[in-house]
Amino acid sequence: MRQGMHVGGVARDGSGTERSLVDPSTGEVAGSYRESDASDVEAAVEAAAAAFAEWSALTAGERARALLALADRIEADTDTLTALEVAEAGKPVAVFRDGELPFAVDNLRFFAGAARSLEGSGAGELSRGFTSMLIRRPLGVVAGIAPWNFPLIMAVWKLGPALAAGNTIVLKPSPQTPGTTLRIAELAIDAGLPPGVLNVVTGDAAVGQALVRHPQVAMVSITGSPGAGRAVMEAASSSTTRVHLELGGKAPAIVYDDADLEATAAAVTLAGTYNSGQDCTAATRVYVQRAVADDFAELLAANLRRVRVGDPQDPGTDIGPLVSVEHRERVHGFVERARTAGATVMTGGVVPDGPGAYYPPTLVTGAAQDSEIVQQEVFGPVLVLRTFDDEDEAVRLANDSAYGLASSVWTSDVGRALRTCHRLEVGVSWVNDHLPIASEAPHGGVKASGFGKDMSHEAILEYTATQHVMLKHAQREAHDTFRPA
Ligand code: NAD
Repeated sequence: MRQGMHVGGVARDGSGTERSLVDPSTGEVAGSYRESDASDVEAAVEAAAAAFAEWSALTAGERARALLALADRIEADTDTLTALEVAEAGKPVAVFRDGELPFAVDNLRFFAGAARSLEGSGAGELSRGFTSMLIRRPLGVVAGIAPWNFPLIMAVWKLGPALAAGNTIVLKPSPQTPGTTLRIAELAIDAGLPPGVLNVVTGDAAVGQALVRHPQVAMVSITGSPGAGRAVMEAASSSTTRVHLELGGKAPAIVYDDADLEATAAAVTLAGTYNSGQDCTAATRVYVQRAVADDFAELLAANLRRVRVGDPQDPGTDIGPLVSVEHRERVHGFVERARTAGATVMTGGVVPDGPGAYYPPTLVTGAAQDSEIVQQEVFGPVLVLRTFDDEDEAVRLANDSAYGLASSVWTSDVGRALRTCHRLEVGVSWVNDHLPIASEAPHGGVKASGFGKDMSHEAILEYTATQHVMLKHAQREAHDTFRPA
């Protein structure tokens, strides 16, 4: 049994119930740990609160050096982190080791640098007789609640900006995938971060709620489903706690008739099936201009059939299993109900025999725009394809969603691409690609996809508050008291 918590620099068992970890590629138990309970949450928040004075008093350069040391440790620990993430989340080894882990390290190095460029602005003579300074303050203890689809990256997206800005943190990974987050906490101690700066509790929604409702938690950042985001927002109101919500998505890919259809089909295949489609930015609603729709549907189906679904340990595997057999039932349920309602499943849509939570890339056509498979997040390798006639209709259909996270536009006409992007109600629009992200660029949505940004300089600002300090340096005239600046 593994230790299920890391508090005040020490790994230990939680006081809650024991939970088994199931390897989604085999269905076999891969380990177990004892989860946290409310008393453990209390201890973790206390440890984080106690560490805040020392951590926030460091210079930006000192905090940056500590985060750079942690990034180095994560990089050097590639084998252990890969084994944990593959066993718990079913990610193909090569995809995680050569893609997601180096990206997380880059994210952390970016935040180490960003710590040093976080400066107050607006110092000046804003009011007669005064000098004003705008100072960026850390908030205190931050709670970071994460989902199971990108456990390592999500942990880094939360701890990076929080710690860079001078906060301390309590992370709560998904109960299904705690391994890499707990490992990061160990590596943080090795890297010289003071005990209590980075703490980890484990457990489900009840543990998350205890964290959110804790009066000493100054901010909660959650990545998860809209329902969880709303529950966190509601609970946070009890202590007027700041929230940062990265919720789901149902990204449209708009394919115009002048797009390079072969290249688009290949890229949309990757964007709809990466991480087995368990990606909040996955290309799941494919809107194709009518003149090319039949050809494009055939191309897309052919590409989806070529995706290699299989053993995460096999270097040739493109996508591994879904996170669990229960989740596969949910995914397949969407496809079955669409089929029953009259939609066509052009490829996929069949649960394979044998162990593991595998599911084939699936293309559904003919589903109604208001049907659940078009409107709700399936979170599997399932794409729906519909047609449109002109730009107005493409934009209307794309925006006809509760979500507003990601989107893509495929065309060889740059004017049309820009016109379309400007009208999409989303946090990110790609042109002639879909999925790439960069540490320097903000990631986050609008509408039911939440608010607040991960990555980029914008993220670090989210974890700070501006304080206005006004220095009086001259006698003030009585009539100046309420004089506008
Ligand atoms: P989930 O909402 O079930 O859980 C996410 C986290 O929140 C977990 O740690 C969970 O224990 C916790 N949680 C759930 N209910 C809670 C509550 N009432 N109070 C406090 N904590 C609670 O999500 P999941 O199934 O783990 O992950 C999939 C979801 O995450 C999808 O909707 C996906 O789109 C979303 N996601 C969004 C982004 C983004 O950047 N926008 C990125 C990745 C995943």
